[in-house]
Amino acid sequence: MKKKFYSKENLHFLMYDVHHTEALFEYDYFSAHDQSSVDLFLDATEDVSATHLLPIFTEMDRNEPQLVDGRIRVHPKMKEILGIMGEGGWISSSASESVGGSQLPVTVMMMSSFIMGCANYSVTAFPYLTMGAAHLIESFASEKQKQNYLPKMFSGAWQGTMALTEPGAGSSLSDLATTATPTNDEYYLIKGHKIFISCGDHDAVENVVHLMLARIEGAPLGTKGISMFIVPRARINEDDTLVANDVLTGGVFHKMGYKGAPIAHLIMGEKGDCRGYLVGEANKGLSYMFQMMNEARISVGLHATSISTAAYYAALQYTRERSQGRPITEKNPENPQVPIINHADVRRMLLFQKSFIEASLSLQIQCCIYEDLKRVTVGAEQEKNYYLLEILTPIAKSYPAETSILSTSQAVQCLGGYGYTTDFTVEQYFRETRIHAIHEGTTAIHGMDLLGRKIMLGGGKAVQYLMQEVMGEIEEAKKYESLKENALV
Ligand SMILES: Cc1cc2nc3c(=O)[nH]c(=O)nc-3n(C[C@H](O)[C@H](O)[C@H](O)COP(=O)(O)OP(=O)(O)OC[C@H]3O[C@@H](n4cnc5c(N)ncnc54)[C@H](O)[C@@H]3O)c2cc1C
Repeated sequence: MKKKFYSKENLHFLMYDVHHTEALFEYDYFSAHDQSSVDLFLDATEDVSATHLLPIFTEMDRNEPQLVDGRIRVHPKMKEILGIMGEGGWISSSASESVGGSQLPVTVMMMSSFIMGCANYSVTAFPYLTMGAAHLIESFASEKQKQNYLPKMFSGAWQGTMALTEPGAGSSLSDLATTATPTNDEYYLIKGHKIFISCGDHDAVENVVHLMLARIEGAPLGTKGISMFIVPRARINEDDTLVANDVLTGGVFHKMGYKGAPIAHLIMGEKGDCRGYLVGEANKGLSYMFQMMNEARISVGLHATSISTAAYYAALQYTRERSQGRPITEKNPENPQVPIINHADVRRMLLFQKSFIEASLSLQIQCCIYEDLKRVTVGAEQEKNYYLLEILTPIAKSYPAETSILSTSQAVQCLGGYGYTTDFTVEQYFRETRIHAIHEGTTAIHGMDLLGRKIMLGGGKAVQYLMQEVMGEIEEAKKYESLKENALV
């Protein structure tokens, strides 16, 4: 039987019936697309996911990346898959046409990423990190930098990363210590260590382009002294050949889950020859990086949802096939046992998962639509979309991240003893999703962001807009007889 890893019907229902994603195609910027072309794109994603990503899901877990002769060796299929992602236009899908992209709404690109994440989250991390790094280059880098890096990144031949974390600077990025020394040329000399850098090095690509935060010598302390650099693993010579850029891979961390995607320890400037190219203006690096961090936060919430979705469908299938016990009112041992999905407690566990994954996906789609609308609207409307996205981002990251731990745990529980074994995938989903409450800012950091910054944003405007949306929904619900009694403030 074909393994179900997500529900196309639910995705379409949420995208079109609930959130009216098709309205985005009315805007000039997205007008090259319509619902049928988008559905074809999502169908192609499903196809690639079922053919290439799903079959290596467990293999990637059992054969995790290793550091061999200074390079991280990843699953041998990754090179082919990244080629497909490049050729099929996935990596450049939401980039603007001016840099070679297709201007697909972020909402659609993210739903494509959701489908892939249901099939194999590890694989999904590679192209989507490149996409985020390329978006930083598109938004803030010079024309020459765009020409140097974007075509290779979009093709899948070069990997992109976000390189922020250091041994002494995790949650507290203001303390990062990697230095950038100016030279008389167009580059700075970079020196320092970065840790936990996702896809920070691997042998499925020719080169890795780090979007790296560092402090220019003499810059102010704290966040105001952080700049952003392009630090390639191999830099481009005058004659377009590549030469090693003194970025060493010091190690690969061995993780609890989503083991197929490597996280690297990088050492820059051991030989005094690591060149970094400043992006945009000095000391504005953290504000630029927030673009990728905010995108990644929505993506983290989305992938907590995608992993829980796959776990739910695995549990659903098992509970339909496994027979144990009899209905509480009919204990006659001569009667056959019933599939466990008939037991109230099993149904409760399944319904908990189902209600979480559908509500959470709905929240993610809503955030993506605000992101798209922020791009194509102006004035007061744009301001509203901006504030709504800002206040919802810590919630859209942290709620799914925390709840998916419970949801995948319930998937394990549905399988009883078998759920705890490696014979079934649910234990892997449980391990895979655990990361989401940690990376891209821990839950505590997002709690502080929500209360300390977002509630006060614009003198309280973000909260006001959110309350208007909530109250509007409640008023709307009152018009329906079946919803009336729940539409109370
Ligand atoms: C698999 C994986 C992939 C990653 N990918 C990347 C990547 O691609 N690029 C990158 O730059 N980084 C990456 N990271 C790093 C990740 O973002 C950090 O691990 C994370 O931000 C937490 O930092 P830390 O590990 O130093 O923990 P710490 O900051 O030491 O936090 C430890 C604990 O203390 C709490 N804590 C810390 N400060 C406070 C405070 N002020 N108030 C209350 N509680 C606090 C935290 O919530 C947490 O519970 C990755 C990490 C992992 C594990």
